[in-house]
Amino acid sequence: MLFEEFGFDNRILKAIGHLGFDEATEIQARAIPEAMAGRDLLASSKTGSGKTLAYLLPALHRVYKKKALSKRDPRVVVLVPTRELAKQVYGQLRLLLASSRFTSILIQGGENFNDQHKLLQKDPHFIVATPGRLVDHLKQRHLFLDGLELLILDEADRMLDLGFAEAMRAINVAASHRQRQTLFFSATLDNTEVSGIASELLREPSRVAIGQGFDEHTDITQHVLLCDHLDHKEALLKHILVGQTIKQAIVFTATKSDTVRLSEIVAGWGLSTQALNGNLSQSARNKTMDSFARGQFDVLVSTDVASRGLDIASVSHVFNFDLPKQAEEFVHRTGRTGRAGFKGDAYSLVGPKDWVNFKAVEAFLQKTFSTEVVEGLEPKFKGLAPPKPAVQANKKTNVKEQSRAPKKSSKKTQGKARFHDGQQKDGFEAFKLPPKRFDDKNDMGDED
Ligand code: ADP
Ligand code: MG
Repeated sequence: MLFEEFGFDNRILKAIGHLGFDEATEIQARAIPEAMAGRDLLASSKTGSGKTLAYLLPALHRVYKKKALSKRDPRVVVLVPTRELAKQVYGQLRLLLASSRFTSILIQGGENFNDQHKLLQKDPHFIVATPGRLVDHLKQRHLFLDGLELLILDEADRMLDLGFAEAMRAINVAASHRQRQTLFFSATLDNTEVSGIASELLREPSRVAIGQGFDEHTDITQHVLLCDHLDHKEALLKHILVGQTIKQAIVFTATKSDTVRLSEIVAGWGLSTQALNGNLSQSARNKTMDSFARGQFDVLVSTDVASRGLDIASVSHVFNFDLPKQAEEFVHRTGRTGRAGFKGDAYSLVGPKDWVNFKAVEAFLQKTFSTEVVEGLEPKFKGLAPPKPAVQANKKTNVKEQSRAPKKSSKKTQGKARFHDGQQKDGFEAFKLPPKRFDDKNDMGDED
C-alpha cells in the first residue's frame, strides 16, 4: 500500500516524502487505517518492520485534523521502555514535525527534573517519555492528561518486564476520559501480563498481529558457534570481527562489567569500540549511542540496554557473546541487524554456561539451530547431554506429578533448573555448572 492511499493530510505526505518512503510496510498498512479510524489498537510485528511510523503517522494525522480537547494538556503521549528508545522515537517525531507548528518534548529518567518541568510548562503537544519519569511529573502536577487524545505504548511487553506496570496504570488513570484513543504495541500479545494490562488500557481494540511477532526474520542469518571457555569465545569473536567485512557490530554481554572488559579487548584488536551499560550517566549513554549511530566507531559492546528498538541501519553484525537469560531477548538483540531491508548476521557464542539459555531460545523459537565451526578454532564442547528419562527409582510415581512438584529439600533436586515446560531435567549436566558470572544483582538491572 502506498502512503498516498491512506488519506493523510498533505503536510504528512510531504514529511514522509522527506524520509524517502513511498510504500508502507505490512504493519503500517494494517495498523494505520485502524488507528486513523479512531479505534484502539493492539498490535505486534517483528523487529524492524516499521512500527514507529505505524503509530506516529496516525498521531500526526489526528492532531492536524482534529481540534484539541484542551489548550494546555499534551495531545499525544508515547511511552517507551528505555531512554535509548525514547530518544530514537523522539528523533523520528521531530523530523516529522519539522515544518509544523506542533511542539514535542522528551521526558526520560536520568535527566534534570527541573529542566523537564520547564519544558512541560510550555505545554507541548507531543510527549515521548519513559513511564517512571512521566509519573513523577504527574505526581508533582507538572502536567495533566485530561486532554490527552492519544496514548501510545511502544514495546509494552518490555515496559512490563522492567516493572513499569504501575506507572502505566497511573498514566492510564490520569488520562481516563471517553475520547482517549490508545495504541498498544508489543512484541508478544499472548502472555497473561500483556493481555491483562491491554484489557485495562484498551477499549474494544482492533487486533493486528503480523506473524507471531517472532516470525523468522529472513534478512538475518543466524550463526551458532559452540565454545569451550572465555578465551575461546574471544578468539572466535576476534576471528569474525577482524576477518569479515563489518559495517558496524553490537556485541551483547551478560553483565555491565563485561562490556568494559570486552570493549578493551576489542580495542586491542585495532577496532574502534565503546562500552554501553546502565552504570554510565545518561549523558554518557546518549553520547555513546549518538556517536555509534553516526558511525564514529564500529563495535558497541553492550548489555541488553541496547537490545530493544534501536534502529541503526548500518549494524551488519550482532553477537551474543553470552546468550540472554530471557529467550525473548534473543529476538530483540538479533533484531538490531537486518533492518530496513539490509541483510544482517547474528552470531551466538554458546559455551557450557550458555547451554541452558541456548536451549530455551530454541524452545521459544520452536527451531533447532545448526552449529558452525571455524577452522582452527574447533570446539571440544559439543553441547550437553539431553536429559535421561525422569524418575527411574519409583516406577509407580507419576512422572508429570513429580516433575511439577519436586521435593525442595531433596538433595537430588537441589541446584537443578526447571524448564519452561515445567519438566525437570534430571541428570542434565548443565546443573553442575559453576554459578553465573554476574558480579552482583545490580549488575543486571539497566533501566530507569
Ligand atoms: P520496529 O519498531 O518495528 O522495530 P522501526 O519503526 O524502528 O521498526 O523501523 C525500522 C526501519 O525501517 C527504520 O529505519 C525506518 O525508518 C524504516 N522504515 C519504516 N517504515 C518504512 C517504509 N515504509 N519503507 C521503508 N523503510 C521504512
Ligand atoms: Mg520499535
